[in-house]
Amino acid sequence: MIEVLRLGHRISRDKRISTHVALVARSFGASKIYYTGQKDKSYEESVSKIVKEFGGDFSIEYVSSYKKLFSDKTVVHLTMYGEDFRKVKIPKNDLLIVVGGEKVSGEVYEMSDFNVGVTNQPHSEVAALGVFMDHIVKSKYPSFDDGKVRVKPSSKGKEFY
Ligand code: SAM
Repeated sequence: MIEVLRLGHRISRDKRISTHVALVARSFGASKIYYTGQKDKSYEESVSKIVKEFGGDFSIEYVSSYKKLFSDKTVVHLTMYGEDFRKVKIPKNDLLIVVGGEKVSGEVYEMSDFNVGVTNQPHSEVAALGVFMDHIVKSKYPSFDDGKVRVKPSSKGKEFY
């Protein structure tokens, strides 16, 4: 099982990027996203609306403290300062993948089982999560067959089942 934790959500600045983090988590096979920072009903509704339309089993939950989430999972913190993700051997346990926002406290680095970088250059939590999850699931994504909206792959235009 894969879950994701998005740290430090700010209502005024992060709605779009935090939503994208959640949608990437869902698309690539995570079952849940937790977030810290400011509780944001509109963020939760945006994510739940996509799940309702496009299917799958994915939920979002605000947590005031991330610490208790770290106890029973392998925690992988994505950071530009980390070790090369391609060289780190991640055990096949339940995973909690952590992405930050503006500033990540030193405690997260210490409490995580792994601190890994997707390159050691600054970019984005959305990109880092997508690349890392693709690596973890070996490009095997959920099918979302129960979705009300089901996109049919097409070489031209938009098609649906
Ligand atoms: N200095 C931050 C860091 O530790 O990566 C960059 C902050 S960036 C705006 C927000 C988040 O994007 C980071 O907390 C991290 O989760 C993710 N991120 C950015 N660049 C990354 C990289 N090269 N590898 C892995 N994660 C990255």
